Amino acid sequence: MKNIIAIYPGSFDPVTNGHLDLIHRGSKLFDKLIVAIAQNLDKGESLFSMAERKEMLEAMTEELDNVSVDTFEGLLVNYCIQKNANAVLRGIRAISDYEFELQMALMNRKMEPRVETIFMMPAQQYSYLSSRIVREIAKLGGALDGLVPEMVEQRVRDRVARKHISATGKHLL
Ligand code: ADP
Repeated sequence: MKNIIAIYPGSFDPVTNGHLDLIHRGSKLFDKLIVAIAQNLDKGESLFSMAERKEMLEAMTEELDNVSVDTFEGLLVNYCIQKNANAVLRGIRAISDYEFELQMALMNRKMEPRVETIFMMPAQQYSYLSSRIVREIAKLGGALDGLVPEMVEQRVRDRVARKHISATGKHLL
């Protein structure tokens, strides 16, 4: 068996149960899995800082010995080489993910043929789940149970409430 070091890149703003489903599956398959938080280029304003996202991911993957969490900037393939990784893990939720993922995977392969992209499907109940939808539900006051871990839910609620207070100018202090 080859030694497979895989990178699971994403923005994880915040980590969802769908991400965690993929991390658990990946951890069983690969020798080592590095969850790598990408510096956002064009995803608009983020809810959590890179350090906060890293802290939440670390807490949620603590029991998985072969999983670590890191941050990176720049091209994913360069980061893979730097980490000696030979695989990239990506999730496919629905057909709508496919076109973008195919383009990314083929472009990454052109730039670095040594790195193979591997796609995995989450459990069916997470196939409609994204960080963006979690942020939107939270902003509109909806329930997040079953979508993110409890600790993350609390942090999302606090953050959304704080952003709302500063946006409306109703500071308590
Ligand atoms: P999001 O689309 O949730 O904003 P990210 O940019 O953090 O997520 O995504 C990182 C990777 O995780 C991508 O490959 C994405 O397809 C995958 N992913 C995100 N949510 C899920 C999910 N619910 N099930 C499976 N894969 C997912």
